Amino acid sequence: MTPELHAGKPILLWLRRDLRLADHPMLSAAASSGRPVVAVFVCDEVVSAYGAAPRWRLDAGLRAFLPRLEALGCPVTLRRGPALETLRALIAETGAGAVWWSRDIDPQAIARDSAVKSALKAAGVEARSFPGQVLFPPWEVQTGQGGPYRVYTPYWKAVRGLPVAPPLPAVTRLRPGPALRGETLEDLDLGRAMRRGGAVVAKYARIGEAEAQARLAAFLDGPIAVYRDRRDFLAEQATSALSEHLAWGEISPAQIWHAGARALAEGAAGAETFLKELVWREFAWHLMFHFPDLGRANWRAEWDSFPWAGESASAERWRRGMTGEPVVDAAMRELYVTGRMHNRARMIAASYLTKHLLTDWRIGLAWFEDCLIDHDPAANAMGWQWVAGCGPDAAPYFRIFNPASQAEKFDPESVYRRRWLAEGNRHAPETARDFFEAVPKAWGLVPGARAPEPLIALAEGRARALAAYGARGAKE
Ligand code: FAD
Repeated sequence: MTPELHAGKPILLWLRRDLRLADHPMLSAAASSGRPVVAVFVCDEVVSAYGAAPRWRLDAGLRAFLPRLEALGCPVTLRRGPALETLRALIAETGAGAVWWSRDIDPQAIARDSAVKSALKAAGVEARSFPGQVLFPPWEVQTGQGGPYRVYTPYWKAVRGLPVAPPLPAVTRLRPGPALRGETLEDLDLGRAMRRGGAVVAKYARIGEAEAQARLAAFLDGPIAVYRDRRDFLAEQATSALSEHLAWGEISPAQIWHAGARALAEGAAGAETFLKELVWREFAWHLMFHFPDLGRANWRAEWDSFPWAGESASAERWRRGMTGEPVVDAAMRELYVTGRMHNRARMIAASYLTKHLLTDWRIGLAWFEDCLIDHDPAANAMGWQWVAGCGPDAAPYFRIFNPASQAEKFDPESVYRRRWLAEGNRHAPETARDFFEAVPKAWGLVPGARAPEPLIALAEGRARALAAYGARGAKE
């Protein structure tokens, strides 16, 4: 059925990871269509599979966003159930002739959306998806020989000059369609798995589109100038902190790209490095689109025979921030308390797990997936495989981060470690005490206890990792 035949019929606007009003191609198209719209959010099979912290953060994002859409005359109906079945019921209730959504290129979302698209089309309902999640759709960027990029630098060179459409203005009005009955956010209870620590994480999270814009403005106003030189320092606020907003679509990558490009044109010292980091996110999505197993299987098959350890008491101590390696424990506690972790700390903690503890990277990936409020399936998978050494464009396995020298270099005054470790410090700051507040009582952790003994001496862990690597016989 052609779109003309649907003219006048309501459009279902299916909201997902796109919780903003500005630079939102789907909302802009809906506003200019003049057609009545019914906005819906469905707690479906993909949303239910998110980790605890991502679901909690999504709930918080919806709490901020829904009233803003409602203020434009577009209340959002909340439903629960498998996506296709739920959308079919909504179509029957509203007489909608179309379902629109913003594309999500997470493989789970692609599988869901492809099935929805074909079923709706077969039923004569228009199914239309819109861009916005990435700057450079992975199917549009190819190497000279054809096929996907596997290495970052040539990818960066290929995309840096490509045009990026200027951000669209915020929608200001939508024509409401029929009112529907739905559930409340309390009914959906997306944050239920975070009851133990949600109240603590909430102190550190910043939610919504206005916060995202404020963070971008603050970053452009200062830290961008020192971004290149200071972004690795663990205790500093030298990065943008935009990842938690990007993950939920509270800001678009195009808004950040254009702001970064303006800063570059005005001579901001760190602007190019910042744009390059934003393009690491693009590269991750590029990889994940072309290699949907990125979060499940070793990118390089020769790693399948590597003797990774599985679940163990050591992996559990890593998760609990109790390895006895101060910078690793600080990082793991930052994650638990704030739902975020400094990028260099992510690398140090991931390297310690996969190399010093010889533990399968998928165990670490799953913990991050459960704890990160900025969880991004592509960046997380790429990050873990990169650090473990089995990924595309990865750090060679024998390059093992030494947590002690990393800490000396990037936390020279111990500010980061003191911020997150309470052991042996009767005047530990609130951040460190919040960890004990947030963790489940069953962990039996108390502030003031003695610092844990190291799980393994660093030199011994390094030698063991190198031996395992050597035994594997891979040439690197
Ligand atoms: P800034 O330094 O201000 O960078 C701006 C934006 O660029 C970020 O918001 C992010 O979207 C992108 N970016 C920066 N560095 C990277 C990178 N290395 N890879 C991909 N994109 C990048 N990032 C996530 O957003 N979600 C994750 O789940 C995630 N998991 C990771 C797991 C591991 C093991 C590692 C090593 C990295 C992971 N990253 C992840 C990448 C990176 O750590 C975060 O994007 C960054 O710390 C976010 O902070 P920021 O917004 O202040 O970044």
